[in-house]
Amino acid sequence: MPSLSKAAAHIVQSDIRTMSVECEKVQGINLAQGICDTEVPLPVRQHAIQAIEGGQNSYTRLDGIATLRAAIARKMRDYNSVICDPEREVVVTAGSTGAFYSACQALLDPGDEVLVFEPYYGYHVNTLAALRIQPAYMTLRSPEWTFTAADLERAITARTRAIIVNSPANPSGKVFGREELQWIDDAATRHDLFVFTDEIYEYFLFDGSKHISPASLPGMADRTITISGFSKTFSITGWRLGYAVCAPRWAAAIGYFHDLAYICAPSPFQHAVTAGLNELKEDFYSELAREYAYKRDLLCSTLEEVGLTPSIPKGAYYVLADSSRLPGRNGKEKAMSLLGTTGVAAVPGGAFFHDKSGDNLLRFCFAKTNADLEAACERLQKLKAVAAVR
Ligand code: PLP
Repeated sequence: MPSLSKAAAHIVQSDIRTMSVECEKVQGINLAQGICDTEVPLPVRQHAIQAIEGGQNSYTRLDGIATLRAAIARKMRDYNSVICDPEREVVVTAGSTGAFYSACQALLDPGDEVLVFEPYYGYHVNTLAALRIQPAYMTLRSPEWTFTAADLERAITARTRAIIVNSPANPSGKVFGREELQWIDDAATRHDLFVFTDEIYEYFLFDGSKHISPASLPGMADRTITISGFSKTFSITGWRLGYAVCAPRWAAAIGYFHDLAYICAPSPFQHAVTAGLNELKEDFYSELAREYAYKRDLLCSTLEEVGLTPSIPKGAYYVLADSSRLPGRNGKEKAMSLLGTTGVAAVPGGAFFHDKSGDNLLRFCFAKTNADLEAACERLQKLKAVAAVR
């Protein structure tokens, strides 16, 4: 009888999807999964329809349409302080996930080691596992999710080929500061490593935090693969539109691998996000951050009130909260107990750690409509009546 591949043993349904299924069963409110329930901006919606009606439905150049690559290069210059050539240094991809997968295939080999900051985004670690690349962990210190240059140096080995930076980060909400990015860049230069950056939450910033792209630091553009996309900013997670920006020799190879799996990013939606980038002004992005700051404050104050102390995120749209007061021997049991008592689904913290350090944490997502979030917060109040576990 044939068997599954060796990698398949490590790739199973994520806790995030499992909790979504459990939530559905009890018709609960799903704060487990990062689905943006917020409105798609008008020009993006309108141009998607126009593109489909206007016949933009075939394959595009493998690295995307010229107008979108030009719009991305402009945005990279104006927002990220990264200068890139839209002809040779931008690859439009099927979501940032498609960019990350293709970049790993193009630039890493089985057996290489890649450093991941922990708590991590599960897709990063599982993508590495799928490609037989070894993750190594740089565990951040809660509640501020800090590290030092010495911690970083200790975590790098002779097999390390790359460092993954996700800022603002899922699930911690950490926004990497300039000094931290400088340590990463110094280490990458010293050990000749790639830096893969996932900047998908670059506009979700709170309390005056600033987004700094690692590729904007002097001398870093050549070894940095900047990855981002439109899923979150334009609330189009199902459209699958993202990109990678990097030096031409990396971009060409990433484009070839992306072509193998996807041929190109969805054609009409490339036109739609081009319009979004060209037509939406600064106030759209500042309003987005303001709207999400409201959601964060609402959820965090409720979590605090009911004894699930949150680690207040500086960016992205997730919050890790201390679940020690809930019954259960591990994160999964605690998440199920929360769902049973309140009808609110969260993700067991173990999904973001390689060991048991996440067992007393739950991740809540606040990318919800205000009505859903308010209803979830009301349900969470039920915990007040439930005695804490000693
Ligand atoms: N990167 C991070 C850190 C995420 O949290 C997510 C989605 O939750 C993604 C990437 C997926 O992005 P995309 O829809 O562009 O593939």
